[in-house]
Amino acid sequence: MEQEREADMPRYSVIEEKNPREICLLRGSGCKWRRCAFCDYHLDFSRDEKANFALNRQVLARVDGHLGKLEVINSGSFCDLDGETLAEIRRVCLEKNILELHFECHWMHRQQIPAIRRYYGEKGIEVVIKMGVETFDGDYRDRILRKGMEGASPADIAAYADEVCLLFGLEGQTKASMEADVETGLRYFRRVCVNIMVENSTRVKPCPAAIKTFVEELYPRYRDNPRVDILLNNTDFGVGK
Ligand code: SF4
Repeated sequence: MEQEREADMPRYSVIEEKNPREICLLRGSGCKWRRCAFCDYHLDFSRDEKANFALNRQVLARVDGHLGKLEVINSGSFCDLDGETLAEIRRVCLEKNILELHFECHWMHRQQIPAIRRYYGEKGIEVVIKMGVETFDGDYRDRILRKGMEGASPADIAAYADEVCLLFGLEGQTKASMEADVETGLRYFRRVCVNIMVENSTRVKPCPAAIKTFVEELYPRYRDNPRVDILLNNTDFGVGK
C-alpha cells in the first residue's frame, strides 16, 4: 500500500547540478499556514502520523549519502514532520555520513528554527533553512500572495533563514522587479531558488508576459550562477507532481 502511494508521486531524487544533493519529498501533518494564494501543494499531507512515518521511512531508505547533503521537503515546514521521522532523518544522516541537511520553513515557525538546528547540530549535522519569500516586495507578498510574513525585511528573514525561494511569472512582475528580488536574495542569503509559476488549481494564474521576460532577459544571466537554482517547472528537482 505504502509502495503504491510512493509510486503515485516521485519522492526521492538526486540533484546533480549546482549544489548536488539527494532530495526527499516526505509527508507531514500539513502546512499550518495554508493561505498562500498560489499554492495547492499543501494538499500532500496526512494526519495519520504512523502512516506518515511508514511512508517517510521507506523514502529515506533510498538515501545513500553519496553526496554528503540531503534536502528534505514536505509541502510545508519541517515542524509538520512527526518526531519519529525527524529522528529517522537524523539516524540516516549519521549512518550515511550526511553533514548538511536542508529543510523548508514558513515564517510563522521561525522561533522553532534554533531548536531544530540544535537537534541535528549536536550530532555534527548542519541544518540549512530555506524559506519561501516569493518576493521582497512586502506589500505584494503579503497582500496579493497572502504569505503572512508581516512585512518582514530581508534582514529580518536572514536572521532565521539561510536560503530563499522566489516565485516568478506572476501578474505585475517586471524585469526590474524580478532582478531586484534575485539580487536582494543573493545579497542576504547563501542561495536563491527561483520557481516559475505553473498552472494549478488556485486562482493565481501564470503570467505569460512575465515568464517570457524572465526566460529571455534574466534566465541567461543567472542560469550558470552556482548560487541560483531555477525551476522552470515545479517538478524539475525530480520529486512531486
Ligand atoms: S507556506 Fe508553503 S505549503 Fe504552506 S500554503 Fe504557503 S506555499 Fe503552500
